[in-house]
Amino acid sequence: MDLSYIINQLGEDRELYFNAIAPPIMQTSNFAFDTVADMRALLQDEYKGFLYSRGNNPTIDILRQKLAALDGAEDALVFGSGAAAIFVAVLSQVQQGDHIVCVKDPYNWARQIMENILPRFGVQTTFVDGKCTENFEKAIQPNTRLIYLESPNSFTFELQDIAAITKLAKSKNIITILDNSYSTPLYQQPAGLGIDLCLQSATKFISGHSDTVAGVLTGSRELLRKIFVSEFLSVGSVIAPFSAWLLLRGLRTMEIRLKRSQESAQDICQWLKKQPQVEKVCYPLDPDFPQYELAQRQMKGAAGLFTIQLKANSAAQVERFCDALQHFLMAVSWGGHESLIFPACAALPEGGFQVEEPKHRMVRIYIGLEEPAFLKADLAQALAQI
Ligand SMILES: *Cc1c(COP(=O)(O)O)cnc(C)c1O
Repeated sequence: MDLSYIINQLGEDRELYFNAIAPPIMQTSNFAFDTVADMRALLQDEYKGFLYSRGNNPTIDILRQKLAALDGAEDALVFGSGAAAIFVAVLSQVQQGDHIVCVKDPYNWARQIMENILPRFGVQTTFVDGKCTENFEKAIQPNTRLIYLESPNSFTFELQDIAAITKLAKSKNIITILDNSYSTPLYQQPAGLGIDLCLQSATKFISGHSDTVAGVLTGSRELLRKIFVSEFLSVGSVIAPFSAWLLLRGLRTMEIRLKRSQESAQDICQWLKKQPQVEKVCYPLDPDFPQYELAQRQMKGAAGLFTIQLKANSAAQVERFCDALQHFLMAVSWGGHESLIFPACAALPEGGFQVEEPKHRMVRIYIGLEEPAFLKADLAQALAQI
């Protein structure tokens, strides 16, 4: 389906709302029925219509159609956060006694679920270095039900060979889930590479304005219907119609925002690589990236998120650089209009910094929509502080 059609038309039936260009925010919790028979039909199968906004809502429905089409999937569910999408997706696929193989160092809250919550219910997880597909094969046990991937991750950007891993999973009847938050469906299409359930944090690039927290899960109608009537309705982590409306608005400009962010990031990465205070730049579409060849094969692009490793002898030097930046805001998250930094050392306990640990000298940078020259000037003056 054409991207322009999905973004501008799909799911929008304007005759239902006075031909308004912007869809209405259907701010209602419940929907009325004319007959008992109509009500009974929806109570029996809430998936197919509007009963109660914990399930379906017309504003959210427009968003679901667009998000499913973007992923090349049959359906999408939208959640109150990316973390809720992860929790529901994983929970829906495992039972007591099952085993998960997960890529090492996934998103922190995904790791929490698999490391701390699921073991309480008898579900164990093996974490493997995802750079080598053989590691997944070796970790698979007779009770392995699920392989969980995140390619690339959002700090060091290691990739997994998605097509090779899904081929392996299919041969063993194992479900695959992939966190596609970094690439979004515009720059990576996991369903086309064989992934069963694809999820992303809509908080990042889909919202695009740092004003909404939300998550997306896409897959086949069969899988999503099962999840909808069980875990989705039970967990109840839905978004408000207004948040859905903000995400619809975000989608309108997503393609140009990602393009701008990518172009600026590539320019700034090349410039950073020449700076004497910068030891290394990690960016999947940089030719020096160790998995560049795989990145080119399975990704269509990489918007503005990358990490630099500073040449520094102390935590104080890293902190001086970060504190000196005037136009990069220091914050978690990414994908908005504003450029950000996230120093790895901020997540270390006081006194935990070790010079010989390269990760401690890493600073994640997100390039927003500002002029690259404006951002480079700021980086230059802050690097000089080291
Ligand atoms: C932010 C993020 C999430 C979680 O999404 P929230 O919307 O913050 O709950 C999951 N995965 C990745 C890679 C993320 O960056």
